[in-house]
Amino acid sequence: MLGREAFGAVMDLTSIPDVSAPLPWQGDTWSRLTQQMEDEQLPHALLVSGPEFTGKSSLAMALARLLLCAKPVDGLNCGSCHPCRLSAGGSHGDFRWLEPEGKSRVIKIDQIRSVVDFSNRTAGFGVRKVVVIAPAETMTMSAANSLLKVLEEPPPDTYLILVCHRSQGLPATIRSRCQQLRLAMPPRAQSLAWLEPLSGSAEMSENLLELAAGRPLLAAQLHGQSGVERLRDASVAMTALFNGRGGVLPLAAALAEEELESALAQLLGGIEALLRNLDGPRLQTVQARAAFNILDDIRQVQRAIDGGSNPNRQMLLDAMFAKVQRVLGDGGLGDNIGANPGGAHQ
Ligand SMILES: [Zn+2]
Repeated sequence: MLGREAFGAVMDLTSIPDVSAPLPWQGDTWSRLTQQMEDEQLPHALLVSGPEFTGKSSLAMALARLLLCAKPVDGLNCGSCHPCRLSAGGSHGDFRWLEPEGKSRVIKIDQIRSVVDFSNRTAGFGVRKVVVIAPAETMTMSAANSLLKVLEEPPPDTYLILVCHRSQGLPATIRSRCQQLRLAMPPRAQSLAWLEPLSGSAEMSENLLELAAGRPLLAAQLHGQSGVERLRDASVAMTALFNGRGGVLPLAAALAEEELESALAQLLGGIEALLRNLDGPRLQTVQARAAFNILDDIRQVQRAIDGGSNPNRQMLLDAMFAKVQRVLGDGGLGDNIGANPGGAHQ
């Protein structure tokens, strides 16, 4: 059982802490959920949606483990009861975490069928059963149809938590049977405070968050994958490119060792930062519109990858870099924004 969001190891189910707490920016949401639990109003099917890399799976894990814990402490799972020890080890019999298995990018019908059987059984501990499906939009159509049976008549002791980045990617029949919980983008200050112990400095946290377009878990992942130097190199290369210096080759070199997803995320973050710094009239220019088109292209590729496509990394990046060079390589947008379009503050 290895957890991940659409890509990358966002949540590692092989190292679950004793106590699973929500992330700092999820406090209000968490209070509402625990209040619903106290009032015995927690829905049996919950659809948690929101931007990628903001911690939806962490929230689902915290809720699942709280539901299974025998003696919650201060609104969190206790970490020491028998069910908590089992859920930390991934071997709690009343807990299922569904995600695409192995190299698959989809959740298959067989996985959902096993959940249907699971939900029809009596809870081993005689209390509650919990199923988390993440990301739920990766269910195949037949898998989603199969899940409908459980959603239509959820057994009283079974809780289904669906996690998805884009709820529109789920069939309306699924959405309408879940209580929807939409999470917003985490506030910047809280993301930075959370990142700092990891990155080691406020400056690096800001760089990382900028590159990750404000998504703290992606920032953490970029830090873990890329290392500080590589991030700086990419950021410096983007700054130079946007200022009409150096062309696209240094950027391609700086991103050469990155996973495709990470390279795309950094490119997206850099161009977003460039556009954020433009004033109104400049945003209306043909060049700025062309830059927005590149963002659309990148997001489209990201969605395709999330949906299971496996593009040729080199061909795709070469084409993307060529477009970036064509649109932004003359420095026409960069000259207005100082030296920090990619988020490098040094
Ligand atoms: Zn416990």
